[in-house]
Amino acid sequence: MRDELGTRLKAFEGRSATVAGVGKDPVNAPMIRHWCEAMGDTNEAYTGPDAIAPPTMLQAWTMGGLSGHRGPTGRPGSSGRTEAYDDLLTLLDEAGCTSVVATDCEQEYLRPLRPGDEITFDTVIESVSERKTTKLGTGYFVTTRTDIRVGPDLAGTHRFRILKYAPARRREKPPRPRPVVNRDNAGFWEGVQEHRLLIQRCTGCGTLRFPWLPGCNSCGGPEWDTVEASGEGTVYSYVVMHHPPFPAFDPPYAVALIELAEGVRMISNVTGVPYDKVRIGLPVTLEFQAHDKELVLPVFRAGREAAV
Ligand code: ZN
Repeated sequence: MRDELGTRLKAFEGRSATVAGVGKDPVNAPMIRHWCEAMGDTNEAYTGPDAIAPPTMLQAWTMGGLSGHRGPTGRPGSSGRTEAYDDLLTLLDEAGCTSVVATDCEQEYLRPLRPGDEITFDTVIESVSERKTTKLGTGYFVTTRTDIRVGPDLAGTHRFRILKYAPARRREKPPRPRPVVNRDNAGFWEGVQEHRLLIQRCTGCGTLRFPWLPGCNSCGGPEWDTVEASGEGTVYSYVVMHHPPFPAFDPPYAVALIELAEGVRMISNVTGVPYDKVRIGLPVTLEFQAHDKELVLPVFRAGREAAV
């Protein structure tokens, strides 16, 4: 059974989203070099006199960049975007599907692109799904297929899928993420459960270390015991987290690197002061904060004088 909106959306299948788009720049070595540097791709095929462009750059040659394409007739570059595609998106927006997320893309390569190639492209609205409910919300998957050509030759296709959806109402705040406890750090978390902050100490050379590791960075020795931190420390450095928001946290908040009196440093939260009163050098004292029934975390409380 199809909803009425779904029927109207389905009518867009097969219609053009882009007609005779023109690449803003020819395929060129500087863009290839930047791409390879960003991706860390050192493949020799992408350098030298016989260089080809990395196949995965396919979509990049169709993009208008920050300044955009000039329009259907202007050169260089033309998006060729049709009214049909705008109408489709407007219809979804008006139905409350105002959010969008790119879900996946598939590419097919038919011939390599080389510096100097001038590309053109056409995009078709390949399919619009039934109404779907996902964790993000309810909406429709829209799949477009872009054919990229050099002259008459098809160089590749780029199939791109988005979900246009009405955001689901926010559920209850999720619990704070659990620490990953493994055999190398289990002793630390056992200490935290007992409200003791344990620092590893190499029994070979006496070097303290934090976070917990299987071996000593100083002498390589595998044997260790622990010392309990006095709980005194100072803020060695900090950042204030504004964005992106994580569901279990309420930004803005300060994340601090605390230098313990014993000399090792650990990342934690500073309590007892607003986020904008946290400063380098601020004296702090260890306390244990229960977030829920299972989760206790070591945090550091600033003295009362820091709050004013
Ligand atoms: Zn050691």
